[in-house]
This record gives sequence, C-alpha cells and structure tokens, in this order.
Amino acid sequence: MESARGCLFSCTYCSNCYLNKVKARNNIKIIRKKSMSRVIEEIKALSTYADQIRISDDNFFFRDLEEIKFFVNKFNKIRNIQLVLDTDFRSHDYLSKMKEISKIKNLIVGTGIQSGSSRLRSEVFNRHIATNKILYLFNKTLKMCRESKNNIELSYSFILGHPKEKLSDILKNLNFILKLRKGVGLSLNMYTNILQTDKTKKCSKHFYDTKSENFKKYSFYYFLHYLLNHLIYHRIDYFLPKQFNDSIFFKILNFRIFSGIYGFFVDMIYKSNQRALNKFVFDSLELNNSKG
Ligand code: SF4
Repeated sequence: MESARGCLFSCTYCSNCYLNKVKARNNIKIIRKKSMSRVIEEIKALSTYADQIRISDDNFFFRDLEEIKFFVNKFNKIRNIQLVLDTDFRSHDYLSKMKEISKIKNLIVGTGIQSGSSRLRSEVFNRHIATNKILYLFNKTLKMCRESKNNIELSYSFILGHPKEKLSDILKNLNFILKLRKGVGLSLNMYTNILQTDKTKKCSKHFYDTKSENFKKYSFYYFLHYLLNHLIYHRIDYFLPKQFNDSIFFKILNFRIFSGIYGFFVDMIYKSNQRALNKFVFDSLELNNSKG
C-alpha cells in the first residue's frame, strides 16, 4: 500500500528523478503524505483479506517521531498481519524512529543501499551517504532489532550491472556485503533502464540482459553476488575471506567464454524469483476471492 506519493530524493535510476523535475516546473508538491490515522484505517481494512502488507516509502522516516509512535501503537493492535516496510536510512533522527518501529513483531524491514561503492552511489546514482555511516546505521539497526526479540528480518537492496560500473565498484560492493553478513537478506537487482530517468539519455538501450556487453564483461562477479547472498542468508559464510581482491583466480573464472553459464544461472534465479512473486500475488488474489 502507499503511505505517501513522491519522494524527496532524486536517484538517477528512479522515475522520481524525472517526476521531481516535472513537479518543480509545475509548482506541484514533491511529496503527498497520507495521515498516519488514514494509513492505519487502510491497513485495518486490508487485514481482512491479507496476512501481509508492504509499505514502500523511502521517506517513511521523515515523519515526526510522534507520528511513528502513533503508527506503532495502532499497528500493534491490528491482529494477524505482518508488516513489510521498504524504506531508507537517510533521514534525521533515523535511529530513534527505528527503535520505535522495532517494537512491531515479525516485521520485515527492507532498506535501499544500492551499492557498496561510494563513487557509484554519489556520482552515478545521486545517493549521498557515506559508506561508514551506512555501516554504522546498519550495525545499530541490527543490534536494536535483535534486542527487541520481535523476530525482525532485515533486508538490503543493491543494484548491479549499471553501464558505468567499474570492476573496482563491483569489488567494493562485494567487500561491503561481506561486512554486512550476520544472516541479513540481500535483494540483488540487475540494473534496468527506466524511461525518463536521468540515465536514459546517457545509457540508452541498456536493459537487463545477460547477453549485454556489460554483463559479459563482469558476469562471474554478478554471479558471485548471488552465490554470496545464499551463503550469507543461510549462514554458511564461515569460510568466506575478509576481503575479495582482483585475483588471477577471479580473472580466470571471469573469462568471457564462461559468461553464458553465469548468465544462465543469474537468469534462472531471476525467473524463479519472478515465479515465486507471481505465485504470491495469485495466492493472495485467490484468498481474497474465497473470503469475498
Ligand atoms: S529514494 Fe527510492 S523512491 Fe526516492 S528517488 Fe531514490 S529510489 Fe526513488
């Protein structure tokens, strides 16, 4: 469900980057928020049909602490519904607000990081937050959620395969992910150009494609991200090194002749995730029909 429309940020790969310019030109408010009581009323109504609700709102933590407290208090009184909150670290007083949110049981919090490379984040994605700050907030959030004993899952999303990504960015991303570990989930997405985002003009004709030049160039490293994700999620990460380097071993594994094999696996993971998502949507609709 939507708790607000619009976004205060302008990440270059996101449609809000374009929409914010249109809004500024036409004097339209950048963001329109629903009141927390309306959000709660909508969740209550939906809880008759759904057992999980997702709020995707990268500006959720821009609300006042009092609004967040109100939300948590009311949400905890609604029966049998799990909250998935997709949001962002970047707001003032994030930690106090996250502490409130961690009072919700069985919560899933998804946070966009997009890259462990500060160059890619700031110069290419227009996301300005220092790597050390992300790690600091990550560690604090993790500690807070574990201490709450509310069975909270954390997931962090990344974008791979941007045409301006260099091998050094990819290695920084892998090494950044190694620092997260601790059983958190990663949501790995291959970059897809969306019409009207900033990058459309500069990187035209780039869509998620395992046969693209970019994918062929670094296919092993993309595949390695997926492998790492599974190992970390299932906590089979004790044998992983502290750091990945551009070693000769990686260079051999990344030979172009193997790129079709890695492409096949990445594609397979994508398609199976897509099937799982479709099934989830289908099952939810079936459930609605039977309840209706
Ligand atoms: S923070 Fe999220 S919603 Fe906002 S512009 Fe960036 S990607 Fe889009």
